[in-house]
Amino acid sequence: RCLDPNGATVQQITVCVRKRPMSRREENTKNLDIISVPSADTLIVHEMRLKVDLTKFLEHHKFRFDYTFDEECSNALVYDHTARPLIRTMFEGGNATCFAYGQTGSGKTHTMGGEFFGKIQDCGTGIYAMAARDVFEEVSRPEYQEMGAKITCSFFEIYGTKVFDLLLPNKPLLRVLEDGRQQVVVVGLTEMPVTKVEDVLRLIEHGSKERTSGQTSANAKSSRSHAVFQIALHMPDSWGPYGKCSFVDLAGNERGADTQSADRQTRIEGAEINKSLLALKECIRALSRQSSHLPFRGSKLTQVLRDSFVGGKKNKTCMIAMISPSMSCVEHTLNTLRYADRVK
Ligand code: ADP
Ligand code: MG
Repeated sequence: RCLDPNGATVQQITVCVRKRPMSRREENTKNLDIISVPSADTLIVHEMRLKVDLTKFLEHHKFRFDYTFDEECSNALVYDHTARPLIRTMFEGGNATCFAYGQTGSGKTHTMGGEFFGKIQDCGTGIYAMAARDVFEEVSRPEYQEMGAKITCSFFEIYGTKVFDLLLPNKPLLRVLEDGRQQVVVVGLTEMPVTKVEDVLRLIEHGSKERTSGQTSANAKSSRSHAVFQIALHMPDSWGPYGKCSFVDLAGNERGADTQSADRQTRIEGAEINKSLLALKECIRALSRQSSHLPFRGSKLTQVLRDSFVGGKKNKTCMIAMISPSMSCVEHTLNTLRYADRVK
């Protein structure tokens, strides 16, 4: 593998894939690992298929992305090639956005929020925390201190068309309004001032607990919601943040297929997830083509992230598509790879 340890060259849109290791359960049930990552930008799915005469054969699907990460890659290595190059964007007055996309259980929260040790998550090892570390390193430089630069964090969840503040107890519902100048405002969203990495870690921990609290299983409801963690840079005399980094742990993309479900609530949620992931793809494509038409009104997710898509060349986006290695997930894996393939 020839990933440059110093990180990536900065592009406006970067699309990567990360393969997680086989889980204990997948190994115990003799599930096959069908994904290989032969080089730093290539990934192959080895799919077993049945022919008409019912004999089995192997079909190979080859994909190319900006970067492909195999199961040996650490969160830190992934960070260096995805979110780290985006930190500069915020200090240059732009909006940087990093998405974790993929099916439930593919490693989105592990990558964004931090590694799990059993059920315990180490918030210090996720992309949120690594980004916060780099932001504080930058903002502590004398020129930013003299200017009076300040950092704030927000953390919220989009569930269906509802937005909840994850930094307040019992995650209150927030209203989203669009003003006359097409500015989208999440009314009352907490913008917590932070001065050091420890402050941010506490917020991540609190928000992550709020996200999964009151659920029978940690993945039950969180797999149907998008979580958005934001770090913003404020200058004393500017209206609104000077620049912003958003990190989005998206709802499980298999949930978009729940539109066929018998249960009405699940069906409505599935439709909204489907809509938001399609709108997201269209918005990123519009950004990459410098298109003047941005279909951000297509969903609550893209509406709330409007700032990420308008603003042209100043803005940067990265998508990390997460995939499971096992044969049993092949359909979802191919869906994820095809989606990621079309984003750019
Ligand atoms: P998602 O948020 O996409 O539903 P999770 O991040 O919760 O998925 O990951 C599901 C499980 O897989 C967790 O137990 C996590 O510890 C494990 N996992 C995911 N990615 C990795 C990885 N790169 N290395 C080791 N374990 C991982
Ligand atoms: Mg998750």
